[in-house]
Amino acid sequence: MISKLMGWTLFAPAVFGISALASCTGSEAAAPESASANAAEAPQNIAVEQTLPEAQVAPASAPAPAPEPTPIAVQNTRFSYSGELTQGGYIRGQAPDSTVQASLGEQTLSIAEDGTFFAAFDRDSAGTLALSATLSSGQIVRETLTISPRDWQIERVNIARRPGGASASFMARRRPELNAIVASRAQETGAQGWSQDFIWPVKGRISGRFGRQRIYRGEPGSYHGGIDIAPGNGVPFVAPADGVVVLARTGFSLEGGLIIIDHGQGLNSAFLHASRIVVEEGQSVTQGQHIGNVGSTGRATGPHLHWGLKWKAARLDPLLFVGPMN
Ligand SMILES: [Zn+2]
Repeated sequence: MISKLMGWTLFAPAVFGISALASCTGSEAAAPESASANAAEAPQNIAVEQTLPEAQVAPASAPAPAPEPTPIAVQNTRFSYSGELTQGGYIRGQAPDSTVQASLGEQTLSIAEDGTFFAAFDRDSAGTLALSATLSSGQIVRETLTISPRDWQIERVNIARRPGGASASFMARRRPELNAIVASRAQETGAQGWSQDFIWPVKGRISGRFGRQRIYRGEPGSYHGGIDIAPGNGVPFVAPADGVVVLARTGFSLEGGLIIIDHGQGLNSAFLHASRIVVEEGQSVTQGQHIGNVGSTGRATGPHLHWGLKWKAARLDPLLFVGPMN
């Protein structure tokens, strides 16, 4: 079952303990016993690759009656985040102060001006990923995330996979469609939906889960990259979070009527098989706004909404964004 991990993963004691800035002079007189206490508190999987000068910090509970108050800039030198460290899942968090560059694995993070960020884990994510930041001082903050595997729905069938190779005529039609999809997803709109709690675009019977995969006589087929919801033909669906419409066109060979919404930070939603599209490319939409109607256009065996979520190259499980339908 899916459980939501709530609350920020904070390292408050450690943060206070290593609050000194590289530019903070006059704090050279280190307190060794305090330093060792901090080392003990620091999670072992976090490497702060610089010995920091010790700040003169009163215990957090003390009312700080310093006679000669020396202003100490408390700098956050850790990542903090909340979310599910699991395949198809995501985190939202706060990068260390003065981060100039940050990455998750091979993927560069888009850090907002206030330091917040979104990052996510592909359906087939490796078991561990490095979350790292380079600070303006040159210091590198690095943390290893352990990504739990999911028990994907695998169906072994004793039939051969469809004979390979799309026809030349199909590919001639398909290539510009794929180019349009890739180009739309590459757009950076500055949308803020990534920071919201997502809602279901429409409610109805779940007819296909994310990650499901068939193995044809030992040969894996491609997995299902979204969630299928079948509320009935023509039922309106809405934007699950704020965003900007980066693609809204009919007639795609597989997707049919296709809408892609950018939610910012590299996160986007795709809605397939629409019978009707009521938004235009470039339009801003808000969470809950009607964007289209369920249909069976493109390659679909019946009317349903296929909702796919991608963060950069990673395919994500929409169920982890919205929770069970009630
Ligand atoms: Zn689908």
